[in-house]
Amino acid sequence: MKILVINCGSSSLKYQLRDMNNETVMATGLVERIGGEIGRIAHTSRPDGDSPAKRVDELPIADHTEALKLMTDRLLDGVIDSLGEIDAIGHRVVQGGESFSHPVLVDDAVVETIRANIPLAPLHESNTIGIEQARKLFGDVPNVTVFDTEFHLTMPPHAYMYPLPMELYDDLKIRKYGFHGTSHKFVSRAAAEHLGKKPEEVNLITLHLGNGCSMDAVEKGKCVDTTMGLTPLAGLMMGSRCGDIDPAIVPFLAKNKSLSLDEIDALMNHQSGLLGICGMNDMRDVHQAREQGDENAQLAFEMFAYRAKKTVGSFLAVLGTVDALVFTAGVGENDDHLRAKVCEGLAPLGIHIDTEKNAVREPGIREIHAAGSPVKILIVPTNEELEIARSTMAVVNEAAA
Ligand code: AMP
Repeated sequence: MKILVINCGSSSLKYQLRDMNNETVMATGLVERIGGEIGRIAHTSRPDGDSPAKRVDELPIADHTEALKLMTDRLLDGVIDSLGEIDAIGHRVVQGGESFSHPVLVDDAVVETIRANIPLAPLHESNTIGIEQARKLFGDVPNVTVFDTEFHLTMPPHAYMYPLPMELYDDLKIRKYGFHGTSHKFVSRAAAEHLGKKPEEVNLITLHLGNGCSMDAVEKGKCVDTTMGLTPLAGLMMGSRCGDIDPAIVPFLAKNKSLSLDEIDALMNHQSGLLGICGMNDMRDVHQAREQGDENAQLAFEMFAYRAKKTVGSFLAVLGTVDALVFTAGVGENDDHLRAKVCEGLAPLGIHIDTEKNAVREPGIREIHAAGSPVKILIVPTNEELEIARSTMAVVNEAAA
């Protein structure tokens, strides 16, 4: 079975074609600056093979319809002979609201429900455009939606409700939804398997630390709390997002800086986090700068680690017993300094990191805890595309049964 995974951002489109017989990636691509003056498409055939073929083109790409057309042109250029070879398409959808607790086969009603959730994630309207265009382009090929929010729908009300007037939940469904769910689900399943257990036999704290950052408390395979909220702005400090701050800062800025709500929103999403503190949002640059004595870079690193560590503590309290901390995503998988800083001083809570194991760089799942550490510490590379492809295949097979 060949599954195409599509992830439509507001001005970008990521795709991956996978042969699910052996889960190999046949092609992968990224279309960027859609709607901009000059767009860019980078396409790679057989990325994991012996002779990957990369092609990059820069050209105006007016909209997502054109982006999808470019994608199919590249796929038909040596990867597949006809679009009919694609058995199903899996779409990443950021916000499923309370409507979707598992992946579903797309029909008109599903598209309508996703549309109805757009006010909860207006920046991700492009998700629906991708689905609608794919339905037109690929005719009868089944489309499946996989939601970033679905893994978090198992949270109990005392974790997902905000202490705001009840009618705001009743009228507008203002509550914590959580994001990066596909990643948290994938790494928590992979971690359980690595530990030789079923998902329902382990308690985990999963740390997705990349450009965006979130942390989940996973009890017996189910998410019971997460750091992101109504939007992906909440929780941990991120590359350019502030994470949790005193909410009264918003009216304070409006009054004292005469900023509009849109300007404050942009400031918190795009000019804050690591970037806001030290002017850099890539952790590799932050390390380089702090090694050269940049005090703000040092502060940004310490704040990032401190906020993650504090949340590990609170999720330990939520779960009581924890089998493993699971680090994933760009920073979590690659940054030994950050992992060491997050775990520093946590030995009394049963978290003992092994400095040497932590410093080794190797692909795949790795254990970096000291021998005898009551809480294990794992690095589990995330693979959201594979999780979406697996879910898509399961939905299509179930529908055919
Ligand atoms: P992601 O959003 O998961 O793709 O993660 C992207 C982020 O990972 C980048 O912005 C970097 O901050 C971080 N990153 C990637 N490689 C490294 C590395 N070797 N050391 C530290 N941070 C890294």
